[in-house]
Amino acid sequence: MKKMKGSLSLGRVKGIRIQVHWTFLLLIGWVVFLELSRGNDLAAIFWSIGFVMVLFGCVIAHELGHALTAARYGIGTRQITLLPIGGVASLESMPENPKEELLVAVAGPAVNLVIALLLYLVVPVGDFISQDPAQLEETLSAINAGNFLFYLFSANLMLVLFNIIPAFPMDGGRILRALLSMKMNRMQATQIAAWLGQMVALFFFLFGLLFNPILVLIGVFVFFGAQGENIMVQQMTLLKNRSVAEAMMTDITVLEPDDPLSEVVDLVLSGTERDFVVAADRRVEGVLYQTDLVAAYRNGRGDARVREIMNTDVEPLHPDEPLSEAYIKIRSSQKGFFPVVDRQQLVGAIDQNNINEFIVFKSYPGITDRAEVPLNT
Ligand SMILES: [Zn+2]
Repeated sequence: MKKMKGSLSLGRVKGIRIQVHWTFLLLIGWVVFLELSRGNDLAAIFWSIGFVMVLFGCVIAHELGHALTAARYGIGTRQITLLPIGGVASLESMPENPKEELLVAVAGPAVNLVIALLLYLVVPVGDFISQDPAQLEETLSAINAGNFLFYLFSANLMLVLFNIIPAFPMDGGRILRALLSMKMNRMQATQIAAWLGQMVALFFFLFGLLFNPILVLIGVFVFFGAQGENIMVQQMTLLKNRSVAEAMMTDITVLEPDDPLSEVVDLVLSGTERDFVVAADRRVEGVLYQTDLVAAYRNGRGDARVREIMNTDVEPLHPDEPLSEAYIKIRSSQKGFFPVVDRQQLVGAIDQNNINEFIVFKSYPGITDRAEVPLNT
């Protein structure tokens, strides 16, 4: 998943950036609107906003549950983002070992279960649910000091129940895929989990249209999430046992640090290359990305040299590196274009397009169990 634009950083926990997306403000606005439309006063609005804040604290704890469990298996997390519909922990990958994936997926809801159990110890839950329905409705009509923790207890319980719905890529769907992966190969398991996820997403969407707009958003999110991850797992399967050298471009234009930008523009206009490796004597000095080239021209720096605009913070790939690992790096980087270097000598470059072409043209004949490979990638 790419870095989400329009997010405000809240700080870091064990090196993982916690950020909140601007659309979170819409949720606060919605809460205020609901309170006002029910005729509640200012105090009720403050309690409600406070409740949303604390609840999203629990959501962060949930995501940290995933992230810190993944860290135990050597998988990093780029960031945790709070959206109005919940949190997203952007793990670099999911463990392919089903047992590990199971534990990473379970860890999130488990955190909310623990929070709910702890609250159960201090909240007189029995007193609340033994009230008759009319009285209970009155007690819970607005959030206040007397029912705040009961609300929080219920919400955490809801988080557990909601997340274990087997709608891939929600936690329950991951749990399901991990369980299925113990019985069949991961690609089949993903297909089944993704199919079920899309069915549930459709249900969320339709049900949400009638009753709850947030459910509509979650439906859309789950639907495309399931589709995206299904495609990704299929592609990863196709890339297995292939190396960067098999897919990389070797016929590329290499720039020199002192080339003027105007020459690069001529190259861009006359060819199809977008990003360029900058090298002197086949030693990589940097990469000139098209976005930076465009920005330079916009800022009136069209007469600059390549070395002034190029990005020097480049981590080249090695030709023997597994293509599946390169694929993850390319997908998770902002620009998605990497030089390939062997013994400090530039030997090629690779980007997402390359890998897509490789999947289309090269990977099918080598696959032994061809019947399992769907042709819709
Ligand atoms: Zn989760």
